[in-house]
Amino acid sequence: MSYRLAPTSIKTRLTLWYTTVLFLILVVVSGLSYSLLARAIVEDVDRSLLGVARVIRDAAAPGPDATRGMAASVNLDSGFGKQFVQIVDARGERTYWSPRLESLPLRMSSTARRKAAGGQRSFETTTLGQERVRVVTMPVLRKGEAAEIIQVGVSLARTHQTLLRYAETLLVLVPLGLGLGVVGGSLMARKALKPMDALAITARRIEAEDLSRRLSLRGTGDELDRLAETLNDMFARLEAAFVEMRRFSADAAHELRTPLTALKGGLEVALRAARSTEEYRAVLVASLDEVNHLIRLAEDLLMVARSSDTVASHLPIDLDQLALEVVDVGVRLGTARGVTVRIDVGDPVKVRGHAAALRRAALNLVENAVNYTPAGGLVTLNVTREDHTGLLSVRDTGPGIPPEDRARVFEPFVRLDAARDRESGGTGLGLAITRSIVAAHGGTLTLDEVPEGGARFVIRLPAAE
Ligand code: ADP
Repeated sequence: MSYRLAPTSIKTRLTLWYTTVLFLILVVVSGLSYSLLARAIVEDVDRSLLGVARVIRDAAAPGPDATRGMAASVNLDSGFGKQFVQIVDARGERTYWSPRLESLPLRMSSTARRKAAGGQRSFETTTLGQERVRVVTMPVLRKGEAAEIIQVGVSLARTHQTLLRYAETLLVLVPLGLGLGVVGGSLMARKALKPMDALAITARRIEAEDLSRRLSLRGTGDELDRLAETLNDMFARLEAAFVEMRRFSADAAHELRTPLTALKGGLEVALRAARSTEEYRAVLVASLDEVNHLIRLAEDLLMVARSSDTVASHLPIDLDQLALEVVDVGVRLGTARGVTVRIDVGDPVKVRGHAAALRRAALNLVENAVNYTPAGGLVTLNVTREDHTGLLSVRDTGPGIPPEDRARVFEPFVRLDAARDRESGGTGLGLAITRSIVAAHGGTLTLDEVPEGGARFVIRLPAAE
């Protein structure tokens, strides 16, 4: 059986992270402070032990008694508080010991003995019965040799107690600090994320029907403001796309209705009375025309829907080869209309994309050029390369497109007056489809100014390699 954990909120995750980090910091700081304190205390103890040892050494006046050892010259029993003292002579015999050491002598490690013999003092922690004690071993030099060794020790019981109390304090303070940290962290996370929630609620209210609404900025210029700005930009683009889509649907419906109304009208009139075979035939021919137009419209509408996602393949395509294929079709169309179509290849260029879609795009331009150029005219295809761009242009010697209509002609269903009257009447979708296909390939479609008249459409595509 598998359980799905509920998704953790950012707030919870932030708090968890924060708590973990805080816990690690507290543990490290506590450990460090504990060991620093322990060291400082031991250093303190060492210093006081050394002080006592020095007092004993300095009190022993060199003189006739010196040979008898220090014990005789110093009144050691005057007491050194909690410390205990032991004096050992050069042979290792105890010459003095404080009462506590009567039955339990202070041990001297071999290292301490070696150091003392070399004239060096040393500190060590050892045991005296059950007790841990800190001991300084200090040689007293006479004529450069360690004549006697003073050992001063003190119990570490109090030191341990102090450290234990400190550890206990830490055991209370660390969880307390952690608890406060968790509460503070969670409050901070909530406060920081609250505007985000507000943003999400407003964003949820902006629906398809109400895309004109925008998120309000708080004016802080922070990440959340930037997020709101980005979302607002997205809403603006969505709104524009929605408006466009709605207009397109309305236009498409209108375009479909016109031939359908004509079709219906023609059929109704034919049915209203008995007709001769010729009359029926004429009605059927006219109806077929409308049906053909409807089929073309349906195909173009499909093409519009698909044109923006045609770049499923990224195969290299020879642009000049593609132009040659298009010219073949163009020549056939042109012959029927008395228009000459020719090709003029500059440099061979390769582009990447969907060959059939690009062929459709180029063919749309050639069809237009042939259709809108009067008999006797000339249509020229040209393929060249400019730096990293492949160019395919279609130029004709027709009437051209007036400057004020140059932007408009790319919009769906736009046909200029001259074109509307034509029997061949296109759907007005050709240029929109072409532009969409080219854009999906990362290119541009432009209508260039031609001083000698006529129209010149140019497809620019990023060259392969
Ligand atoms: P259509 O199906 O009507 O050809 P397009 O989108 O291809 O639709 O073209 C839109 C309009 O642009 C055409 O109706 C026509 O008025 C104008 N147009 C396109 N190409 C040319 C051209 N080569 N010369 C003159 N006018 C053109």
